[in-house]
Amino acid sequence: MPAQVRLITIDLDDTVWPCAPVIQAAEDALHAWLAARTPRLMARFDAEALRAHRRALMSERPDIAHDVTAVRHLSLQRLLAEGGYDMALADAAMDLFRRHRNCVEPYDDVAPVLARLRRRHRLVAVTNGNAEVHETPLRDAFHRAVTAAEAGAAKPDPAMFRLAMDWAGVSPAETLHVGDDPLRDVEAARQLGIAPVWVNRDNQPWPDHLPPPLLAVEDLHGLAQWLDAAQLQTADRGLSDAV
Ligand SMILES: [Mg+2]
Repeated sequence: MPAQVRLITIDLDDTVWPCAPVIQAAEDALHAWLAARTPRLMARFDAEALRAHRRALMSERPDIAHDVTAVRHLSLQRLLAEGGYDMALADAAMDLFRRHRNCVEPYDDVAPVLARLRRRHRLVAVTNGNAEVHETPLRDAFHRAVTAAEAGAAKPDPAMFRLAMDWAGVSPAETLHVGDDPLRDVEAARQLGIAPVWVNRDNQPWPDHLPPPLLAVEDLHGLAQWLDAAQLQTADRGLSDAV
């Protein structure tokens, strides 16, 4: 536990909102839109084939593999070109996807807890995904958001954590990271000397091969309670030192 928590970095997908339903809805909307405009293409590619195309592109282009928006955009451009369609359709398709991708529904605990934490700590969203926090219901919850696209690498790479700490002017010892992924969140933070908090919303077992997190909680209320208790302890220590 850091003596003083000045910065809390917080993962987004599956930590503050469920990810799969919003991606599914965004892809459904995108595919319907494409089917109306590029029927020959969509007759050849279902959702799984499009995903496979993006995966192949990520292997071919490691320079953009961390940027899921860039991968999706380039994949569409190539497919449109191959199908004899106007490549510019990819821009409009991505606008549509982005709008749906930002229609996230945060878990109930998130907004009230972040509003409380925000008064005492710097809060920075760090995400491998492509949700744009300022376009979501959590637009006022964070002081800043950092994406893998901006940092140039996705978690577990330390780039996003470093960017957040540089921005806040704090050290790893003054930072707490909160996320759902044992490797990309908990272990990645621990490797940097950042205290990791695991958000385990659906009661998953901790993977045996990784050192356990500093704290595991089932939602953000658990984090807020733990921080309150830690602060009381610090205040008590200060009081007894003064006596
Ligand atoms: Mg996550």
